[in-house]
Amino acid sequence: MSALEIATRVRSGERSAVSVAEETLTAIAARNADLNVFVHVEREQVLERAAAVDAEVAAGRDPGILAGVPVGLKDNLCQTGVPTTCGSRILAGWRPPYTATAVERLLAAGAVPVGKTNMDEFAMGSSTETSAYGPTRNPLDPTRVPGGSSGGSAAAVAAGMVPVSLGSDTGGSIRQPAALCGLVGIKPTYGLVSRYGLVAFASSLDQIGPLAHTVADAAATLEAIAGHDPRDSTSLPGPAPALVAHLDEGVAGRRIGIVRELVDGADPEVLAAVEAAAEVLAAAGATLSEVSIPELRLGLSAYYLIAPAEASSNLARYDGVRFGLRVAGSDVTEMYVATRTAGFGPEVKRRIMLGTYALSAGYYDAYYGQALKVRTVMIEAFARAYANADLLLGATAPTEAFALGAKVSDPMSMYLSDVFTIPTNLSGHAAISVPFGSGASGLPLGVQLLGPARSEERLVAAAAVVEAGRGVPGA
Ligand code: GLN
Repeated sequence: MSALEIATRVRSGERSAVSVAEETLTAIAARNADLNVFVHVEREQVLERAAAVDAEVAAGRDPGILAGVPVGLKDNLCQTGVPTTCGSRILAGWRPPYTATAVERLLAAGAVPVGKTNMDEFAMGSSTETSAYGPTRNPLDPTRVPGGSSGGSAAAVAAGMVPVSLGSDTGGSIRQPAALCGLVGIKPTYGLVSRYGLVAFASSLDQIGPLAHTVADAAATLEAIAGHDPRDSTSLPGPAPALVAHLDEGVAGRRIGIVRELVDGADPEVLAAVEAAAEVLAAAGATLSEVSIPELRLGLSAYYLIAPAEASSNLARYDGVRFGLRVAGSDVTEMYVATRTAGFGPEVKRRIMLGTYALSAGYYDAYYGQALKVRTVMIEAFARAYANADLLLGATAPTEAFALGAKVSDPMSMYLSDVFTIPTNLSGHAAISVPFGSGASGLPLGVQLLGPARSEERLVAAAAVVEAGRGVPGA
């Protein structure tokens, strides 16, 4: 059942939120040992919360548009008292004393957060294999990865445990796992969703967003969590956009550019899916054209300087004093070294070293400074493209879900999983991945629609057209 169907039934009193929560807990218990999707589930708290939603309905009050909807939370989203580990040993045992704004807004909309989902350590990865708590398996084929870093959030929805979950996207971590698990995933415009209570990876790139089976569920969830928050200084002004109201708007008259750089190098099945999605959009009245934005090729290089630079600074706070793990040493410096050596995994250490180097005296201008200039060049290139196009179209990921272990020893090939998603994080714009077509092994693929800042309304409308066209011949 979709999130919106659950909410309709709970709001009308036809179904109790407690029975929905019990079903969810049973579904998690049935498959979690095999798939390793949830790292923490607080059973009693979930049932109490669901009972509170039912009590609202019984009292004649409307709990909200997500009434009784079970939601999975990526384990970098804080909820008071609920363990938050970011897939890292260094945060083992840490329980945040506050709740993320996005989670507070889910609660205000009547949702029932059911637990924390597995993720790549500190969201660094594309397969959920860098988690200190073991890899998550793709429910559609457990020999394969679910993508990452929000792989647990994607697998939770794909396995039918929850209808919707929240992830975070710094370079593609919502859209890529959505594509690999056959789901819709939205990376909102930077600042649309508050980052308050999201454990920081790369603060100028991080955004929280939804993963769901349907465009409507993803849109409703984003609408619930978006909007200005004074607790995040980068939060955009104004209320949340009315996404659900725009779902049926269609694409008649829209100009959509198929971006060569966002399909080049993808598997032939991925190219075919993008072409078929373009046909669906054209049949619905959009004007499709081919465009080239060569600057997007610089994205991966710029990202792997900017994101590690910000991460090296953000992760300095894990010193064995304030959070989680502490490994004893004979003096404070030894304690720091021992804690960080034991607490961080190899990928996080690699990023801290890359970032520290890029920021060090003598190299700052050549690496970090240069990457910032490249970022500006890319933003200008996107602006030129959006002068002639309302939306852009490309692939989400270059391949279908790959085998567990296939890329762990080759960081470069892992980084290339995000070559089509990273440009949107660097520009701060919005993008959505919609399931469309299938790969050589029959696993789902995603196509990506991109739009300028605050284009979420037209993005969900176009995504709904693509979603409805999934069944057409060739798709
Ligand atoms: N895979 C990319 C990385 O490892 C993006 C991760 C993300 O979006 N959190 O940095």
